[in-house]
Amino acid sequence: MIAQEQKPIEEILGYLEGKENVVLLGCGGCATFYHTGDKKAVDDLAAKLKSAGKTVTKISMPLGMQACDTEKSAIFLQKEKSAVENCNAILVMSCGDGVQVVTEYVDDEMGLAKSVIPANDAIGLVGGGPFKFKETCQSCGMCELGKTAGICPLTACGKGLMNGPCGGVRVDDKCEIDPEKDCAWVKIYKRMEKLGELDEFIAMRAPHEWSKCKRPRLFELEEPMGMMDMMGAMMNFNTITGYMSMMLAKPPEKEEEK
Ligand code: SF4
Ligand code: SF4
Repeated sequence: MIAQEQKPIEEILGYLEGKENVVLLGCGGCATFYHTGDKKAVDDLAAKLKSAGKTVTKISMPLGMQACDTEKSAIFLQKEKSAVENCNAILVMSCGDGVQVVTEYVDDEMGLAKSVIPANDAIGLVGGGPFKFKETCQSCGMCELGKTAGICPLTACGKGLMNGPCGGVRVDDKCEIDPEKDCAWVKIYKRMEKLGELDEFIAMRAPHEWSKCKRPRLFELEEPMGMMDMMGAMMNFNTITGYMSMMLAKPPEKEEEK
């Protein structure tokens, strides 16, 4: 998931200076999970904008309706077409991906020149939970996990080394750069030792191939997932039993977290 947090209200109001009529769109994907795009977050931000004198039209995309999916954003922008046409700015509560998808749709498909402004700061692709998350992947385009016992050397190592540890690893196995963090390469070593793969640990790994990271990266799906496929994927027996198991599971306790 893409972790994100809302920008300070002063920064948002700075972008909205001179723009009184605002469409506020909350993404129903990662932003909703991080409480930075769900209905409550949209209502709260709308209230702050209104008390700063703005006129606000709210668009809350429900859970599963991501702003980064053009087809889904289009449905909600078209539903509020006249507000979009008449606004001075569209404030999007999503990661930068959602903001740019909305920008392109409004420009290219609606033929409107509107300021599209991010309300959130995207922090990274993270894993973990339920309370704490950490960046686990930077979508480098050529995954190295098969060479490093499933621990990402690019995000877990402060220097992004493909062959470590560096000379700075601390005596308590913490990272030279961040004494709070375990050295990624000590973790990789220990994991490979457990897996009986230490021969691979001492083999020299080639430098990471960054060519797949040229920007912007483009890809095509042969068969895009349609709305009906999506509904089918959501409304099946596994989904229903999966959600029931989640609802019946013991709530996580914060102090048990690692
Ligand atoms: S090597 Fe790391 S950054 Fe690259 S895809 Fe794998 S997990 Fe992501
Ligand atoms: S101490 Fe370990 S994690 Fe930190 S920079 Fe060096 S090799 Fe990377």
